[in-house]
Order: sequence, then structure tokens, then C-alpha cells
Amino acid sequence: MMMEMDRETTRVVVLGAGYAGLRAALRIARRTRRENVRVELINAADTFVERIRLHQLAAGQRLARRPIRAFIRGTGIEFQRVHHVWIQVNPDKLAKL
Ligand SMILES: Cc1cc2nc3c(=O)[nH]c(=O)nc-3n(C[C@H](O)[C@H](O)[C@H](O)COP(=O)(O)OP(=O)(O)OC[C@H]3O[C@@H](n4cnc5c(N)ncnc54)[C@H](O)[C@@H]3O)c2cc1C
Repeated sequence: MMMEMDRETTRVVVLGAGYAGLRAALRIARRTRRENVRVELINAADTFVERIRLHQLAAGQRLARRPIRAFIRGTGIEFQRVHHVWIQVNPDKLAKL
């Protein structure tokens, strides 16, 4: 996760929408909904992969498709489907956590 701040907006970028990233993005968006915070979520696929069910897939079962946009609808989180992520960060603008 990365936080960048300027005078007006704090920009939070969450890389990866697995269990950790999706939950983090949802929590941050909920906790900062009254503040000037922009939460961006980036993931290689536009569906949530339930890793703990992958053995079922390997055994030939069909798994429900879970679009990431369905999880974040109404939260204000901006989602981008991108695979190879390359981000240039200005260290002067990073928030101290
Ligand atoms: C078959 C199986 C069964 C399991 N059962 C259990 C269990 O019973 N209990 C348990 O606690 N844990 C279990 N685990 C482990 C659990 O699935 C992982 O601990 C968990 O998925 C880790 O979550 P995460 O969010 O860190 O990573 P992930 O869930 O792997 O999510 C990472 C996300 O980042 C994205 N990503 C990665 N690289 C890039 C990139 N370069 N650009 C864009 N996006 C990228 C991926 O697409 C993915 O969506 C199991 C795992 C497997 C495979």
C-alpha cells in the first residue's frame, strides 16, 4: 500500500485485490469517507480469486465469478485492472505511517 499526500488530497494506492488488498481498500475507504482521500485499487484481474477454493477448481468444480467492482460498489474506490504495475513515487509526498 502506498500513500501520497498533497495539500488537497491524500491518494492511497492499494496494489493487489486479494484478501489483504481488497479488505484494506474497503476499510480505508470506509474510515476516510468524510475526508479528502482518494483510494485506488489495482489488480491483475477484474475478478476476486478465492485462493482457498482453488483446489475445488483443480478438482473440476465450477466456482462463482466474483467481480471486484461488485465488492467496491458505492465505496468511492477507483478500480484499475493492470497487471505489470510500475509506479513512480515522489518520496517527499509520501505520508509517514
Ligand atoms: C488451495 C489453497 C487453500 C488455502 N486455504 C487456506 C485456508 O484454509 N486458510 C487460510 O488462512 N489460508 C489459506 N490459503 C492461503 C490464502 O489463500 C493466502 O494466505 C491469501 O490468499 C493471501 O492473501 P493476499 O491478499 O496476501 O494475496 P492474494 O490472495 O494472493 O492476492 C494478491 C493479489 O494481487 C494481485 N497481483 C499480484 N501481482 C500483481 C501485479 N504485478 N499486478 C497487479 N496485480 C497483482 C493478484 O492478482 C491477487 O489478486 C490457501 C491457499 C490456497 C492456494
